[in-house]
Amino acid sequence: MLKQEKAFVVFSGGQDSTTCLFWAKQQFAEVEAVTFDYGQRHRDEIECAQSIAREQNIKHTVLDMSLLNQLAPNALTRSEIPIEEGDNGLPTTFVDGRNHLFLSFAAVLAKQNGARHLVTGVCETDFSGYPDCRDSFIKSLNVTLNLAMDYPFVIHTPLMWLDKADTWGLADEMNVLEYIRNNTLTCYNGIIGDGCGECPACKLRRAGLEQYLSRRDPGNQGVTS
Ligand SMILES: [Zn+2]
Repeated sequence: MLKQEKAFVVFSGGQDSTTCLFWAKQQFAEVEAVTFDYGQRHRDEIECAQSIAREQNIKHTVLDMSLLNQLAPNALTRSEIPIEEGDNGLPTTFVDGRNHLFLSFAAVLAKQNGARHLVTGVCETDFSGYPDCRDSFIKSLNVTLNLAMDYPFVIHTPLMWLDKADTWGLADEMNVLEYIRNNTLTCYNGIIGDGCGECPACKLRRAGLEQYLSRRDPGNQGVTS
């Protein structure tokens, strides 16, 4: 029974991972969260994750992953690199192997803390070219982690086949749509909640919310703020 076990959520303080945090709280007896500090452009991201974890009474570990920026300079950490589509067709926020590394570090931490369940908000539906968000990769990594540490990890990906509108729907089912809308940080300009409204992350998030709300309340057009 999952209900009696403990899970670690890979948690950034954004919409997706916060939805996963609430999902995990419903599924598991005990939930911890781990956030990776890799020198994010906006320090608010870490603070946002910390304040959600505190409010939700979740034990929270922030791991220093600043070496990521040493390996791969990118627009998430370097303010002089604009957020746009790069020459390779991937956004300049892309970091090779980031989810791979995050999940592997989370697994070591989870095992040390007596947990075998890992929860991550990766998603193949909104696949924007990140190979380590794909279901086939997650399944492969799951086998690799079990072999690497001789431990029966289970990686859970509740958002894998959901689009942005479905993810809002899941939050709504759990009665946390408003909480997630108001308290999470997705915006590249570091503005919590509905964000700046202009950056690609805000546009994607808002489009998903509008789509979900118009599906839920067909007579009611758009998002009221
Ligand atoms: Zn924004």
